[in-house]
Formats: sequence, structure tokens, C-alpha cells
Amino acid sequence: MKVIGTAGHVDHGKSTLVRALTGIDPDRLAEEKAREMTIDLGFAWLSMSGGETVGVVDVPGHIDFIKNMLAGIGGIDAALFVVAADEGVMPQTKEHLAILDLLQVPGGVVALTKVDMVQGDPEWLELVQADVAAALEDTCLKDAPIIPVSARYGQGLDALVSALAKILEAVPDRPDLGRPRLPVDRSFSVAGFGTVVTGTLSDGHLATGQEVEVVPAGFKARVRGLQTHKRKIDQAVPGSRVAVNLTGVSKEQVNRGDVLALPGTLFPTVLVDVHMRMLADAPHELQHNQPVEFYCGAAEVAAHTRLLDAEILAPGASGWVQLRLTSPVAVQRGDHFILRQASPSRTIGGGVVVNPYPGRRWRRFRPEVLETLDALRSGDPARVLEQALRREEPTSYARLTATSGLPTDAVVPAFGQLAEAGRLLVLDKDWQPSSELTPLRVANLQSLMSPDGWQALQHRLADLLTEYHRQFPLRQGMPREELKSRVQSRRKPWSLRLFNDVVVSAVTAGILADEGAIIRTASHDVHLSATQQANMDRLLDAFQAAPYAPPSTAESLTIVGEDVFQWLVDSGQLVKVSEEVVFSPPAYEAMVQRIMDHLRAEGKITVAQVRDMFGTSRKYALALMEHLDARRVTRRVGDERVLRRGD
Ligand code: GDP
Repeated sequence: MKVIGTAGHVDHGKSTLVRALTGIDPDRLAEEKAREMTIDLGFAWLSMSGGETVGVVDVPGHIDFIKNMLAGIGGIDAALFVVAADEGVMPQTKEHLAILDLLQVPGGVVALTKVDMVQGDPEWLELVQADVAAALEDTCLKDAPIIPVSARYGQGLDALVSALAKILEAVPDRPDLGRPRLPVDRSFSVAGFGTVVTGTLSDGHLATGQEVEVVPAGFKARVRGLQTHKRKIDQAVPGSRVAVNLTGVSKEQVNRGDVLALPGTLFPTVLVDVHMRMLADAPHELQHNQPVEFYCGAAEVAAHTRLLDAEILAPGASGWVQLRLTSPVAVQRGDHFILRQASPSRTIGGGVVVNPYPGRRWRRFRPEVLETLDALRSGDPARVLEQALRREEPTSYARLTATSGLPTDAVVPAFGQLAEAGRLLVLDKDWQPSSELTPLRVANLQSLMSPDGWQALQHRLADLLTEYHRQFPLRQGMPREELKSRVQSRRKPWSLRLFNDVVVSAVTAGILADEGAIIRTASHDVHLSATQQANMDRLLDAFQAAPYAPPSTAESLTIVGEDVFQWLVDSGQLVKVSEEVVFSPPAYEAMVQRIMDHLRAEGKITVAQVRDMFGTSRKYALALMEHLDARRVTRRVGDERVLRRGD
């Protein structure tokens, strides 16, 4: 399905022409009717001779409403460029043409309207035609046929429609990248239905019942109904004008400039890297750090420029710019945009979004930054995927795919190419590298890294733990949870699975040792000083001398101190059964064994029996039995303990 958009100077007859072609009045606001001028976007559709319908977006021509024009013009397949024969080329004729060219609209037709007004003056008509042809030179409309028409008297309309049909036939269908996006150009509510948004769908299909996300706000909603050209449909195709009835969000929660997308496929951003071309007749050069207005899709947001490869961009020049936006937008790699200055209101240039998620401010004039951007601009899927990997890592396949902006079917081959060349590492522990890559095999991968990123991460892990061991030489290692929270980025917490994959890979690489709840460097060993060693020997001797009534925690602490005591417990050289009571492992095991034997034979045991069994005091016997209760080995019934037997 295709969409055309009107463009041209105010009062040159755009709305009248759309009405004559489609029978639909695109001027929908009362104010527009009263002022006879298009203020906001109008929508209609044209039935072609083959039976198909083509969406028509009618945009305002007046300079005051250029923002509305820009909201509607994104995503069109062809322009219906309107110039009035009596007035010829006017300021907004030029500005709209420049915008169409910056947006790289694939084709178009020029309607030379109001020819009835210049009927008696063929020379004038010829002059205007030549003027228009000159204006189109070197633009995306250079091959557009110029068709004289009169909307009022119907002259030339058939020729115009055939010319449009021919142009549209030549424009390829919008690709299906498997992740639909609907830049919202209108949001309203309909009694009995609720929230309805409209836009031109791109990059995928949208179906009723699907869950969608409003980006950047993040609201989740469900598609309750779909219409295209006022007809109910179950599935909307890329490139069509769509009205979406949403449940779960209010009209106020979705605004022009927001984008509907499937959850987790599009992310808000406040930094974008763009390749930008200045208009040859821009009023002045573009400065570093200049305030500008950024228009992309249906979004409009204030921004500041960061010129990456030039001190200034002169009119007509091109260059790399990082835009810092004042509020988040949802854009994708390859989106065309327009830059304007606020006052006086003028279009200054535009171009293509090359990297929607740079994630950080680039230093200026850096060859490696410019190289990265060139790689992204090249569009080579493997290079694009590699850049996305370096930016996002460690990352999942799903996020990598979404942030790369690549068509889904291009990702798997690019992934294979990188993996084979060793430029992409899969840390997932169940991953078996094999020659056959299928979308299903890769879809759930969670832990992808570049070799450089993995090197850096290994160093970071080793440094973190080495520092920890230095600080706590008697501790075995860092608690697992602590390591996870220290190694992950605060902005992007890791999933447990990713962390575990990283640990397993680091263990395999010989960097770490995994002790379950504790992680240490592979080489970490506890070293005691001579005094600590002597104290520890004294303590352990005392434990051996009185295995069933050994020194208490408090007594132990006075002998060896807190660090050594904690280390003895952590390393399993002492078994803690309560805050006060600790046993040596052989004593502990012997006691548990004898109690179990007794329970199996007799069915029950009292604390007093335990005390007598080991010739110890009630304090030790009670602590041990409460410990066994807590471990769910035994259960207390009155004064006795019985076996729990797995209940
Ligand atoms: P827009 O601002 O470009 O949408 O222009 P409109 O469609 O609102 O038309 C502006 C004025 O030109 C209106 O008064 C129309 O009636 C008039 N107009 C539009 N098309 C024609 C035409 O083919 N012939 C004549 N004589 N007048 C026209």
C-alpha cells in the first residue's frame, strides 16, 4: 500500500486538488474551513483504476504551519507537488521542495494548478513551467512530470492520476523489517471506542490484539481495532495509512511524535548521530553547539548540535553531527530528518539518522569515531551489527537486533559472519557453535560480546576481585551478589543469566574461581601472619581437646580475632550452629550422625539425652538441636525432637 503527500505554497490549491481527486474534503478543522486554509494535516484516499487505494496526506503550505507539514510528510512514497500556474514558484514552493529533497522522497508529480486562471496566456504558462523545471533540477523530483490541471474545471485530472499511478508503480513497496513502527501524527478519542491514533505504518505489520508500547513514554497498550481508509482491517501492512484503536492508554498519554512499536523493539534516545547536509541557500552556517529544531517522523524536538568533523558547516556542506535532544524521541537508523532554526523560522538542512543510540557524547575530530559512523552509514549489515554490539555489550540477541536497526532477516547472516570471524563472542553456557545458524537458535541468546569488550570485562573482574582480596585478605572472596552489582552498569543492570554466563566464561578462561555463594580470583589464597597462624593453631587445638564443649564464639574471638574467625567459618574449618556455638567439622558430623542413628532407632530424642550422649552442657545440646530444626532435619514436639522425613 502506498501513501502520497501534497506539498507546495499556501493557497496554490492543494486541498482543492485533493478534494477533486478523492471526493474527500481534507480540511477537517472548523477553523480551516472558516479561513479557507489548511492548518493541520488532512487525510484522504484515492481509488486507482486497478482497484487499489492510495493514502493521501494533505499538508499545510503556510509558513506558520510548517511543523504540521513535517509531521505528515515522513513516510510518504511520492509527492504531489503543487504549484499554482498564476503565481509560479513562491517561497514555500522552494522550502517544501528542499524538505522533500532532504527527506529523499522517492518520486513525485508536479500539479501545475489553476491553469484556468492563465488560459489566455500560453507564454506565461510556458514561463512558469520552465521556472518549475529549473527549481526541480538537482532534487529528488528532477524527473517528476509537470501536469497542468484545473481542480475547478477538472482539466488534466485524469492525466495527473495516471502520472501518479506510474510513479507509484515504480516506487518499491515499503520493506517489512519485522518490527512495525507507527509514528503518531494524530491522537484523539472516539465515543464508545476510546483512544485512536493515526499515522503511516512502516517496517512491519500491525494486527488487532497485539500488545504495543508507546515510545518514548513507555505506556503499554493493546490494539483493539485497525482501520485503513475508513475500512476495518485485521492486519495493517507497511506503508499504509492506519488508524489504531488502543485500549490501555488515554488520548493524553499518546501524542503526535510518539511512536507505537512492539514492546522491546524501539527505545527512547536523547542523543543521535546524524549525517547532515546543509541547504545551499541556508541563511548562514551551522555552528557547534547551536540550538536547532529536530524533526523526524512526526516528532519535533529542540536540540543542540555537536559538530564532529568540522568547526562549522557552511551552506551546501555535509558532515557528521551529534544532536543532543532536550527530550527523548524514538527514531531508527536510516530515518530522514530535517533541521530548522526557530527564528526566523527557516529550514537549514537535514539528512539521515545513522546511529540512534550512541549512548554517549563523542569527542570531536576523532578518527575512530568518524570511522565508526562511516561503518554505520555504509549499511553493511556485519559492520552495522558489530558497531551495535560494541555499543550495547554485553547484550542479548533481541536487543542487539532492535538497536542495530537492521532488517531481522539480515541479522542472522551478519551474526554468523561475525561469529565465524571471531568478531562476536557468545558467552551463553549452552551455546554450541555449529555451522547451521537459524533464527530460532540465536533468538534467545543473552550474553553477546565483542572480543575487545570481553578482554576489558575480564580485566575489570580481575581488578575488582584483586582489590577486594587486598582489602579483605582473610575472606575467601566476594559474595556473588556483590560482584554482580559492582560489575554491571548501573544504567543497565544485568540479568542473572548474563551474570552467570559471564562468571562461567571467566572461570573457563582461568580468571575466576566460582565457590557458589562466593567468587574469588583463580589464584586467591588466604595468607595468615605468623601470629595469626599461632593463634589459629591454639584455637583449633582447643576445639580438638573438647570437641563437644569447644570454645564459644566469644572465646574464639578473643583468641584469633574477628577476621581469622570469620575466615575459619567461611572456609568450613569451623561449623557455626548458632551465634554462640561453633563446632569443628568432625565433631559436628559425629554428633549429627549419632543423633540421626538414635532418631532412626528410637523415633525421638530430648535435649537432655543429647547432652548426656556427648557429655556436654545443655547450651551446646540445645543450640545443635535448634540448628537441626532450622535445617528442617528435625521437628520439635513438646520436649522432644522427631525426624521431619521430608514434610
Ligand atoms: P491550499 O492552501 O494549497 O490547500 O489551497 P486551497 O485548495 O485552499 O485553494 C486556495 C484557493 O484557490 C481557494 O480559494 C480555491 O478555491 C482556489 N483554487 C484551487 N484550485 C483552483 C483551480 O484549479 N482553479 C481556480 N480558479 N481556483 C482554484
